[in-house]
Amino acid sequence: MSQASQPPKLIAPKSIAPSYTAFGLKAEAESIRPGLHIVATPIGNLGDISFRALATLAAADAILAEDKRVTSHLLAHYGIATPLVGYHEHNAAIIRPRLIARLQGGAALALVSDAGTPLISDPGFKLVAEAAAAGIEIISVPGPSAVLAALSVAGLPTDRFFFEGFLPPRSAARRTRIAALATIPGTLVFFESPRRAAETLADLAAVLGDRPAVLARELTKRFETVRRGSLGSLAEELAGEPDPKGEIVLLVGAPDESAGQMSGADLDASLREALETLSVKDAASVVSARSGLPRRAVYARAVELAAERPE
Ligand code: SAM
Repeated sequence: MSQASQPPKLIAPKSIAPSYTAFGLKAEAESIRPGLHIVATPIGNLGDISFRALATLAAADAILAEDKRVTSHLLAHYGIATPLVGYHEHNAAIIRPRLIARLQGGAALALVSDAGTPLISDPGFKLVAEAAAAGIEIISVPGPSAVLAALSVAGLPTDRFFFEGFLPPRSAARRTRIAALATIPGTLVFFESPRRAAETLADLAAVLGDRPAVLARELTKRFETVRRGSLGSLAEELAGEPDPKGEIVLLVGAPDESAGQMSGADLDASLREALETLSVKDAASVVSARSGLPRRAVYARAVELAAERPE
């Protein structure tokens, strides 16, 4: 190949061998293949990181971090000197083309978020989608995830689950969204801020009825707690906490399929209550899920009851 036809060299060789330090021992990291490496990091306990994640972070040409301060704390703990590039909602659209060009030039970039698995309620979706479309290899370095950690300790069925992420902050929009989830036949998983957890539990109880629920807080950290109960009992417990703190995953059991055989009077009472705060469609979904009665029949009755209501 002539000199002129050679592709430009975009990757400067590292002057010192990349390494990481764990348990006081320094390990040299082998080079990693070019591409975008999606690396999961701890959700609290810094010990929860794989050797492969450490080696990948050490050997990458750069680490794309949601918040450089958070990631530099992790890197300092493990003696990793890889350069950091901020990649977050404020600069993602601007720097994404440059990152794609770097990857096309043969770079190995690692994407991390502040905690857990990138892209799960965290930045990275567009970068992965665009890089994949550009033919760049996307490599998974899996590890901690608040969703899976919570599911694994909750004691609710895990054969089917639905991850909703964060619900809307305002109660009316939140109740509408919860109603849309009412018939899902699996465990529901939500992220929530400590400030809103009590309100959200109250809305979940109002819309879904008193299903089994679990509140997993500060997983892997010093004040880790897993509280099991019903939506109503957990809502009451949290309402009594003056200054709730900590990171929270909420889990809600699936609708009870053995329920059903609701009397006509009970059906009407449930529908009237649901219609106080929900649209006809949402009220029908919720009551159908709660009662086990066919949605179409419940919807027809909801239309009748809504028409009877005073303007
Ligand atoms: N990508 C992350 C993951 O895979 O775990 C989740 C990021 S999301 C922006 C942050 C939310 O995850 C928090 O608000 C909380 O709901 C949940 N979370 C994160 N760490 C947690 C922990 N240690 N215990 C309980 N929930 C946690």
